[in-house]
Amino acid sequence: MSYGEAIERTLFTSDEIRRAVERLAAAIGADFRGQPLLLLGVLKGALYVTADLARSLSLQKDGPSEIRIDYLAVSSYGNAARSSGEVRILRDTSENITGKNVVIVEDIVDNGHTIAYLAGLLRDRAPRSLRTCVLFDKPYHRQASVTLDYVGLTAPDAFVVGYGLDYQERYRNLPFLALLRSWVFSE
Ligand code: 5GP
Repeated sequence: MSYGEAIERTLFTSDEIRRAVERLAAAIGADFRGQPLLLLGVLKGALYVTADLARSLSLQKDGPSEIRIDYLAVSSYGNAARSSGEVRILRDTSENITGKNVVIVEDIVDNGHTIAYLAGLLRDRAPRSLRTCVLFDKPYHRQASVTLDYVGLTAPDAFVVGYGLDYQERYRNLPFLALLRSWVFSE
């Protein structure tokens, strides 16, 4: 079965996503001009956006003085329609974040529990500054109170895949954001 048959509709093309990542990089770069910055990607979904953001930041003339990349992994909710608010760290950061400028990079925020939990956890480690960056925002069912400092695109109120986002570990590798056909979920 090819991926093409499973896709209902493209929501954002790879060009639209690239431009959104460039806009995020411009905003972050301006805020951290001349300062070191640690991008902290939340695995697995934020794998691509973190890498593309770092690459775009490194092309800036007046951007951060240094960019480091680290990842942490949290449990995602797999098949369930929405996260329960229970977040588990599967792999912690390898960098010590104390005293550093940290931007948490998330693929998507829905009810906000994941990023709120991470922001709380990381704030306790006394970074110099802590900001949140999300590529796709689904602002419709927010439960946790969390400030998103940098937001790329607003996604529809639906389960989306591609550009890092999976359904049962598939479709992450799609270069665009898409809706799946309903039969995929009943397979
Ligand atoms: P929240 O805790 O904000 O509800 O959800 C955040 C996490 O849930 C994301 O990091 C992602 O792993 C997952 N998630 C939320 N919405 C979607 C979606 O539409 N598609 C996929 N594949 N994952 C999602």
